[in-house]
Amino acid sequence: MATEIRVLRGNQIGGCVVLISTGHAKICIDYGENLPGQEGEEKTAALDWEKEKVDGVFFTHYHGDHTGGFLKIPEEIPLYMGEVTRQVMLNIRRALHKDEEASVLSDRNRIRALKAKHVIKVGDIRLTPYMVDHSAYDAYMFLIETPDKTILHTGDYRNHGYRGKALFDVIEKYITCQGRRPVDVLITEGTMMSRPGERVYSEAELREEAKALFKNHRHVFLLCSSTNLDSLASFYQAGSFYGMGMYGNSYVYSQLKTFRETAGKMTSCYDFQYAYEVRFNFELPGLSMTQEQFMRKRGFVTVIKGTPAYEKWIERFADLNPIVIYSMWQGYLEPWRKAYDRELHDFVEKYHAIPMHTSGHAPAEVIAEVINRVSPREAIIPIHTENAKGFRELKIREELKRIIIL
Ligand SMILES: [Zn+2]
Ligand SMILES: [Zn+2]
Repeated sequence: MATEIRVLRGNQIGGCVVLISTGHAKICIDYGENLPGQEGEEKTAALDWEKEKVDGVFFTHYHGDHTGGFLKIPEEIPLYMGEVTRQVMLNIRRALHKDEEASVLSDRNRIRALKAKHVIKVGDIRLTPYMVDHSAYDAYMFLIETPDKTILHTGDYRNHGYRGKALFDVIEKYITCQGRRPVDVLITEGTMMSRPGERVYSEAELREEAKALFKNHRHVFLLCSSTNLDSLASFYQAGSFYGMGMYGNSYVYSQLKTFRETAGKMTSCYDFQYAYEVRFNFELPGLSMTQEQFMRKRGFVTVIKGTPAYEKWIERFADLNPIVIYSMWQGYLEPWRKAYDRELHDFVEKYHAIPMHTSGHAPAEVIAEVINRVSPREAIIPIHTENAKGFRELKIREELKRIIIL
């Protein structure tokens, strides 16, 4: 039987699912929830697990739009994910006291580890993960080889983070092997296809901008996802240039610690050596001052959420005129969008938060370059996008435009 590829909900940004089957095996890639605000729709794709007989579910990275439905997957099906992905997801569930989800994520028989460049065989399907730059760490693109097809599933990606250079290196060296190993089908994300004109800063630019800002502002509250390793690293590095540590509640600290112990072992860029859990009244050993006194003296970058509970933190330092930085997608603040978050919007307004953010996704030019370099022979399947049609307007070769499947 020829290889069959099925895409569910590829025409939305969150929750798309890809099924790849041969006569002997079937794998599922990602099983997430759609992004907030899409009422009326089921959160996860309707998959008849009984009927599908999936042999394994592979997760590209930890974002909820790729993993959020994992609890619905029948327990006999193994779940493949990176070890940091597992740990980051576990930190979230522990903080939220979601015991059932935490116990699945702790089950070493159920969760099988994915490692960059380590081939996994499921029947006659061979899958090789390659690490890719994204606003999540431990994110992969998958090269899937079946007896009659070579398929590249990009996952979510970009090339403007600290690991961005790897994108085209990996494609050249390992995926197409300088053209010696042609890809038949390219399945690529297209988040930014519906966000034209969004200026894309590199993480390094973000860090330099933060450094310039911190020159005169040493007391900083940061609205940023606690799993966005690169952006956290950008602000952490800018702060540590002036001796300011990074702080967060016990949950944020658990994520920073996970990154310190994994990514931080590879490069000092991610070491979060001066990251701490907020305990304002804690007496710092040997310094005869409390943590709050130390924060006042040395400055800080404190990761918060835009909820009333954190207003108390900001007000505690009101006499020092702290600043608030908004480092998340602008769309959450725009009332006409489904993803609008009113509470966050009001918080940002109240504290005149300074927008400083870079996207987790590749802009259109980079998607075009990926397509040109991979140069698939049979098909290009856009997923994770609200503008699949826009792929036909990309600067790609004519013969590639003709094989885009909408
Ligand atoms: Zn993602
Ligand atoms: Zn995504």
